[in-house]
Amino acid sequence: MQSFEAGERIVNYGGERISKAESLRRCEAGNPYIFALDDRWDLDGNRPDNPARFFNHSCQPNCEAQLEDGEIWIVALRDIRPGEELSFDYGYSLEEYQGHPCRCGAPGCCGYIVAERFREAVAQQEAGFPSDCMLRPA
Ligand SMILES: [Zn+2]
Repeated sequence: MQSFEAGERIVNYGGERISKAESLRRCEAGNPYIFALDDRWDLDGNRPDNPARFFNHSCQPNCEAQLEDGEIWIVALRDIRPGEELSFDYGYSLEEYQGHPCRCGAPGCCGYIVAERFREAVAQQEAGFPSDCMLRPA
């Protein structure tokens, strides 16, 4: 078991760089491990050598997914003790959150996995959006 300092890179969210078209196909097939990189490319982290794919979402996470030079890094937001569960904000958009209930139990959890900036809107309005699956960096 390892401890981490605030700001420390914990692990690279490794994966395959894929086109938006391929990303859409894989999302629709139920792959929840795809990160949006930029306007052209996404990253499919669904492979055995990517331990970060098992990190859970939390509305008060201890890590953050950061996009740096075309790579996704999971970075500690605060000091983390050995054995603490690692989590980050999946950053789902308003079009994506439905069908992804959140049970993290953190104060301020709106009941859905959705990016922090959308939580207030979601808490107010909980209907009418199609569900989808895409993780996004901070
Ligand atoms: Zn939550």
